Amino acid sequence: MRRSCLTLLGLLCVETAWAGAPISGRDQQMVFPREPIQAVAARAYHQELASMAKRGELDLNPETLHRIRKICSQLIAQAIRIKPAAAAWPWEIHITSDPEVAAYSMGGGKLMISTHFIESYQLNDEELAVALAHEIGHIIAEHVREQVSMAALMNTSVPLHARKVADVINAMQSDISVYLRLQPLSRLQEMEADDIGIELAARAGISPAAVISFYSKLAKTDSGQSMFDTHGSITQRVKFVDSMANYAWPVYEASRKAKPLPHYTFADASP
Ligand SMILES: [Zn+2]
Repeated sequence: MRRSCLTLLGLLCVETAWAGAPISGRDQQMVFPREPIQAVAARAYHQELASMAKRGELDLNPETLHRIRKICSQLIAQAIRIKPAAAAWPWEIHITSDPEVAAYSMGGGKLMISTHFIESYQLNDEELAVALAHEIGHIIAEHVREQVSMAALMNTSVPLHARKVADVINAMQSDISVYLRLQPLSRLQEMEADDIGIELAARAGISPAAVISFYSKLAKTDSGQSMFDTHGSITQRVKFVDSMANYAWPVYEASRKAKPLPHYTFADASP
């Protein structure tokens, strides 16, 4: 890590740090510390939960919620082994019946998946694990922090030390040029989340065959609403995950012989 500048009172401390993405080791430039990014994500996530609850679309099916938590608790245990700092993050997972939602994640361990998505693709537990492992991949690679960092570096009219997380996120949401310039990074991050997710799933004892079956289901029935809006061609994506899944077979075989890790326990309810 190298410190490039510090802010004056009242502004966020902005540092330039280089991180290595899990599994791939890809260099990531981070100009914001982890904490403010995670704080903004947690606030947005809890606002979203409140809004879903108000609309009667949050955690309506306790059995499904229990099923999802159980799957996630295995995957998060493996994620923490890869990224030990993630043990201190307050991981949360909820389900929604909002048909506009598929699955998404936010920085610091926040996850959401819709019952509509699970039902429309008729996902079994292993396929669900693949979907959730992809989202957990985004989280442990700190993709949001990297996106916000890249967006901050694009705005040269404001000195780096004076840029605040909230302003940068606002620009990402309202400025089409920022959005477009982030697309190459977004696509790279999606492939990386696939890669990390496949590895995580294999380590958690999920067969790589489930990877092929999950992505093939998406490819067959993809009609606009998917996890892959920023991912380019689904056909290319299936080819990519197919080759990644081949590398995961030895990891999966080893996981079947290894002693299972203790499951992660969610703070708000046990799985
Ligand atoms: Zn993704």
